[in-house]
Amino acid sequence: MTDGPQSRPPKSENLPASEDVVEIVPGILRLMLPVFLPGLGHVNCYAIEDDRGLALIDPGLPDGASHEALRQRLTSVGLDIADVHTVVITHSHHDHYGGVARLAQLDTRHPLQVVAHQGFGSKWHRAYEDVDIGEDSADLLHRPLEEIEAVAAKLVRPTPWGDITPQIPAEPLRHYADGIGIRASMQPPAPTTIVTNADRIELGGVSYEVIHTPGHADDHICLWGAENGVFFSGDHVLPHITPHISGITDYEDPLGEFFRSLALVGSYDEATIVLPAHGDPFNDLPGRAQAISDHHVERLERVREIGSEVGDAEVEAYMRMLFRERSWGGMASSETFAHLEWLRLHDGATRTEVNGRLRYDLGS
Ligand SMILES: [Zn+2]
Ligand SMILES: [Zn+2]
Repeated sequence: MTDGPQSRPPKSENLPASEDVVEIVPGILRLMLPVFLPGLGHVNCYAIEDDRGLALIDPGLPDGASHEALRQRLTSVGLDIADVHTVVITHSHHDHYGGVARLAQLDTRHPLQVVAHQGFGSKWHRAYEDVDIGEDSADLLHRPLEEIEAVAAKLVRPTPWGDITPQIPAEPLRHYADGIGIRASMQPPAPTTIVTNADRIELGGVSYEVIHTPGHADDHICLWGAENGVFFSGDHVLPHITPHISGITDYEDPLGEFFRSLALVGSYDEATIVLPAHGDPFNDLPGRAQAISDHHVERLERVREIGSEVGDAEVEAYMRMLFRERSWGGMASSETFAHLEWLRLHDGATRTEVNGRLRYDLGS
């Protein structure tokens, strides 16, 4: 061993999807499923066995490769995908709900119960229901990419600040939809069991409290098991990366909601292990929630500085100064909008609308 500059270990959220299935705590298995999303190497699906079969939390993306990975990982530890009776979805991002479409087509031993928050998918359903996507073929692998791109273009929606949402790239969309069709692969499934804050659900004989945590997504839920000390944090609290804040929201103050939801989960200091939707399990839930909150307080300060430079400007102008160029785009704009709205509601910033686009002036 020599002393020298240490290379920084990769963030565990970036690690590729290992085939190993690990029993994190008795009765809870971690299955890492592949994803094709910037900055993420996998999504965690948690499998919990009971006397009827299996419950899954977040069954991954809609593509066949994710479904096969799920099937094989379960088989490798002697479990059968046909025994899945329940899926709990932490929120309506399709790396979390997408896998439900293929599970629902399986000949499972029990009808599939889909558990999600009361507001699940409300921001996304309309986009898919209102759009005529043409012939919804399940045989997409052999269709020209331009055709798929044309459908993807129809799925974009206006944002509150006057842009449109980013278009889903055609190549992953083709794989998501192959064999099941575009609508089934993209549209959030209809929950069979709707939950709200403080409801309880039983998984593997343990009763979990549902905690509604808007911010990353309006319909995000976490699960807290007081009996086993396990806290499922979804994308609300991740071990290393700071979760994205959605500006596509029904809430007036998305960043304020995120702060409130972080303070709420930070009060669960009896949690002995936190199981996130991306990355490795971790322990210090209050500490991590506080660190994410502190990060956004710093970002607000940075937005104030930018405001004194740019004066009265559109969200995009702020976004380009707040984020590094490689991160520019719809998600960065969405998060910038959430910070600007917080400053409008709590810090005297003013907002105007010019030609359908919002502009913010933070004063000097
Ligand atoms: Zn998410
Ligand atoms: Zn996610």
